[in-house]
Amino acid sequence: MIFEVDGNRLILTAPNSFTLRIIQDRFLPEISKRAASFFQVTPEIELRIEKRTTQKQVPDAPIAKAIEKPIIVKAPKTTSKLNSQLTFDTFVTGKANQLAHAAGLQVAEKPGTTYNPLFIYGGVGLGKTHLLQSIGNLVAKENPQAKICYVHATNYVSGVVKAFQTKSFDEFKQYYNSLDLLLIDDIQFIADKPGTQQEFFYTLNSLIDTNKQVVITCDTFPKEISGIEPRLTSRFTCGLTVAIEPPGLEMRVAILLQKSANGGAPISEDVAFFIAKHVRSNIRELEGALNRIEAYARFHKRPVSIELAKEALRDLLAAQNKQVTIENIQKTVADFYRLKIIDLLSKKRTRVIARPRQIAMSLARELTQLSLPEIGNAFGGRDHTTVLHACKTIESLRNSDTSIEADFNLLHQTLRG
Ligand code: ADP
Ligand code: MG
Repeated sequence: MIFEVDGNRLILTAPNSFTLRIIQDRFLPEISKRAASFFQVTPEIELRIEKRTTQKQVPDAPIAKAIEKPIIVKAPKTTSKLNSQLTFDTFVTGKANQLAHAAGLQVAEKPGTTYNPLFIYGGVGLGKTHLLQSIGNLVAKENPQAKICYVHATNYVSGVVKAFQTKSFDEFKQYYNSLDLLLIDDIQFIADKPGTQQEFFYTLNSLIDTNKQVVITCDTFPKEISGIEPRLTSRFTCGLTVAIEPPGLEMRVAILLQKSANGGAPISEDVAFFIAKHVRSNIRELEGALNRIEAYARFHKRPVSIELAKEALRDLLAAQNKQVTIENIQKTVADFYRLKIIDLLSKKRTRVIARPRQIAMSLARELTQLSLPEIGNAFGGRDHTTVLHACKTIESLRNSDTSIEADFNLLHQTLRG
């Protein structure tokens, strides 16, 4: 389903007449209502059917054909085909992703000879898939013969299941073992699936042993993934493990400037700063905000300005004005570390409690307007120097300990919503 805005017309393009009918019968009133509230005018809605221009791909080897079956089972659109839009050219770099970018580039230029596997981890919407696809696209460009497979871990799981069901395990294995480059996305999804893990363990070893490149992405640091066999997680870290962090302000601005320029309607730096200041969680949200503003501007036939951005993002800004409270921070941190709030407020000084307490204090410092004494007070009547010490400790740990940095970012992201 494609949504387009043209003046005060909203054009909905359905992939086929079946979908079109469903939209028309079931969803049109709701779409119309929502569009009216978003644009503040009732738009004219036009329904169209997409013109097909897809070309059939001919698999070049019998093995590929046999194997395409199991992987395609559940989500045919997301398996093995690379998305040509996601390349290094459009990947903006900054402090948050510099290392991951450099490692990715190196691996793409010399697959199988540097870091194997390359393990990239980070929170949602931070560019893991984009980077993974960029590696695939670059390898494909430099070496069109290379056998490359991009697979999302959930599709890999379906592939294993299907191979079992259809007794085509040998072909399944053969396909994966014959790859030059395996890009597997969101590996956390093989957690608690021992059969899949065993299969993946063999494939991983076989590829690495024959100098075939493997790149893995994940939402957490390998040792933090639960439900995955230790022999597998330890294999994940035998190459290089790199993090993608949430982008800082300048990087968010750079991304907005690049995206808007690519879209043909560059926004000014002022507007980019305005958006970047208010949308901090991740790059996907940043793109969403930009799209919303651009659609709003097209609809009202007005140029993009800070004023217009404010109007277009008013729901989001309203939600943000709800301040993060210290109680919320304490509850979130306690839940995250499986502690009781009362422990955070207690005098207990064991590491398992003291560290989360320090993290909670420094989050309070960052996310609320409270003063040091007020924060100390809220944590069982502690002195303001204790709070200051906690903030300094966490700041320095975040630079030296990747798991603290990852926890902090995740909590920060959760609290900001
Ligand atoms: P993840 O897989 O980590 O959840 P994605 O790779 O899907 O995140 O990224 C989310 C969106 O943000 C995508 O549209 C992607 O193109 C874009 N994006 C992410 N990182 C960058 C970047 N460094 N430069 C430009 N666009 C990016
Ligand atoms: Mg992804």
